[in-house]
Amino acid sequence: PYSTGLEYEDLQAILITTPDPEKAREWSKYYTSGPHLAGKNLSQAIWTKEKWMEFGVENSLIVDYDIYVNYPKGHRLALLEKEQEENGGSAAIDETEWKIKYEASLEEDVLKEDATSGLAGRIPTFHGYSASGNVTAPYVYVNYGTYKDFEELQAANISLEGKIALIKYGGIFRGLKVKRAQELGMVGAVIYTDPGDDGEVTEYNGNATYPDGPARQPSSVQRGSCQFLSFAPGDPTTPGYPSKPGVPRQPVDHAIPSIPSIPISYEDALPLLRALNGHGPKASSFNKYWKGGGLGYKGVEYNIGPSPDHLRLNLVNEQEYVITPMWNVIGIINGTIPDEVVVLGNHRDAWIAGGAGDPNSGSAALNEVIRSFGIALQAGWKPLRTIVFASWDGEEYGLLGSTEWVEEYIPWLSSSTIAYLNVDVGTNGPHFRLSAAPLLNKVAVETLDLIPSPNQTTPGQTVGDVWNKHISTMGSGSDFTAFQDFAGIPSLDMGFGFGAKAPVYHYHSNYDSFDWMERFGDPTFEYHATIAKLWALVAANLVETPVIQLNVTEYALGLGKYVESVKEKAKEATMKTGGAGKREDDEADDVFAPLDRAIGHFHFASKVHDGLAASLLYDLYHNDIPWWKWWERVKLYYAIRRVNTKYKLLERKFLYADGLDGRPWFKHVVFAPGKWTGYAGATFPGIVEGIEEGSEEGVRKWVDIAAKLVEDAAASLEDE
Ligand code: GLU
Ligand code: CA
Ligand code: ZN
Ligand code: ZN
Repeated sequence: PYSTGLEYEDLQAILITTPDPEKAREWSKYYTSGPHLAGKNLSQAIWTKEKWMEFGVENSLIVDYDIYVNYPKGHRLALLEKEQEENGGSAAIDETEWKIKYEASLEEDVLKEDATSGLAGRIPTFHGYSASGNVTAPYVYVNYGTYKDFEELQAANISLEGKIALIKYGGIFRGLKVKRAQELGMVGAVIYTDPGDDGEVTEYNGNATYPDGPARQPSSVQRGSCQFLSFAPGDPTTPGYPSKPGVPRQPVDHAIPSIPSIPISYEDALPLLRALNGHGPKASSFNKYWKGGGLGYKGVEYNIGPSPDHLRLNLVNEQEYVITPMWNVIGIINGTIPDEVVVLGNHRDAWIAGGAGDPNSGSAALNEVIRSFGIALQAGWKPLRTIVFASWDGEEYGLLGSTEWVEEYIPWLSSSTIAYLNVDVGTNGPHFRLSAAPLLNKVAVETLDLIPSPNQTTPGQTVGDVWNKHISTMGSGSDFTAFQDFAGIPSLDMGFGFGAKAPVYHYHSNYDSFDWMERFGDPTFEYHATIAKLWALVAANLVETPVIQLNVTEYALGLGKYVESVKEKAKEATMKTGGAGKREDDEADDVFAPLDRAIGHFHFASKVHDGLAASLLYDLYHNDIPWWKWWERVKLYYAIRRVNTKYKLLERKFLYADGLDGRPWFKHVVFAPGKWTGYAGATFPGIVEGIEEGSEEGVRKWVDIAAKLVEDAAASLEDE
């Protein structure tokens, strides 16, 4: 009854049949044919805008920001060796006596089978927001460099101060590894990729390395940002407000590293790791998380170090910092209801010339989504709600384009947006993965059953059928962060990912290339087309269903689960610290009682609300109200509008204006990136941090804040 110009079924049919693997291949080829680093991809921004206009989204524009960012100028990593003196005499070390034992190449191999690996002007290996510096020091192998890893090193009295950290990629966001190393007085960080984290597809297990086979190319390097994610994403000089020309700029020392860091390949790491053999404890002596890595077959014993006196590392990192424009492309299809909006976004910038997985499999899919909606518009479709498409710049450095845009348009976004749908890596393997705000669980899951899986064990299976049914909570690491955590807009992030048995994905390396994608990632581009279909259909459901398809009961159930897991943590911590949660058996003293009560209330209100929503939708479709009872129909419309407005504003109720302790930019009390994980989310982060710090006061403070917001959210649903 609301959809105009086109029946919903016809719209759905267009969105399912239009996305085309061949077109996706074409867009992928375009985006991955040359460097398009953040702030250096204007031609791709213009091309994208023009394509979208050509597809029928005439209202497309480029929105730019002036952002503080670094570009690489030079680097060096050398293992230096001092000639051992016969009589062990140890006069003051004469710098001239140090010889080069190993000079790291810091370059990825040019492969004739991989066209962009050899482009002139390709992007060097470096870290976003890394500090320039030239340090020469002993080094220590610190495992993944997690907070806990460093704690264990300290407990074992390994001296860290003044040393360079040799860190393995994995587990947590890389910037937090550097942050902790810096806090502990280390003077530099070298982060390498260990094939032990590549799952089963390794050279050690008998697989050929890329390009001959699916195992990791030994020279591949993971570039990436080392911003301190947990402080705030976006331009580090403008936390909370948009980087428009002429705005005041804040100091950056708490937001990005002050010690130099570089990323290296396992090939370049080998001599460094081997040189630690026999020095300091074995990694495996710590615990099972320290078992080392996958380079045992190359003679690495994974000792911690520190490196012996006759060895040192020289680490040089030269970065140029500038304030430079970055370009988001924004496309708008206006709906009949002006203040109900769904935003779809993907980033366009990549660390490398390729980026076939990250992010341009998503960019290719987004183009197919827009082309499909364009065809629907041509067929006469007039959307009920407004759709905004975004091609973000600067995601890789720290979610720059999306964060600045949200910071700029927050008043409008707050009053009008019902959901943000993010696809970053659209595909780099066959396994569907989904993170979502609970409000979006239902609409997302229902959509998965509408689309055939490219990979079927029995004919006719949908993506939903072959999916592992796991929905992650919203952490960080992509452009949904400002929407979810700063603006309180329910968000989801999805794509097809790799698994333990899939060809190794060369994340942020030259080999995340079109050639890799064609050979190993998605040779038929079917997964590209499939993610486009899913994305378009979730959007269509949210845009077209007269009653907004958010589900509050899912949120209530989620809150129940999160609070249980927080209580578990409190219990565990009690044993160690005697802190929060100590008296949790005693009803009257139960720290969590106010939150339990609020969630109970919210659960009740949510069922009533979702029930009312369902009955209104039923009435709209099934009650033929005769024309002379026009007043009944007006009443129904008003009731739907009221229900929709409550849905739309619900997630905003979970924002706490002062933000989390020590990171005020993060306003959501239920979801935040883990303070020391970055990618993985924390639920009820304020409470969790109170527990971790052994602060009962902190726990009480955040329980009370959360309880109040949950109560307010419940009340907002019940509001007449
Ligand atoms: N997705 C990028 C990465 O993981 C950027 C994440 C961020 O800086 O927040 O490196
Ligand atoms: Ca900003
Ligand atoms: Zn990405
Ligand atoms: Zn990335």
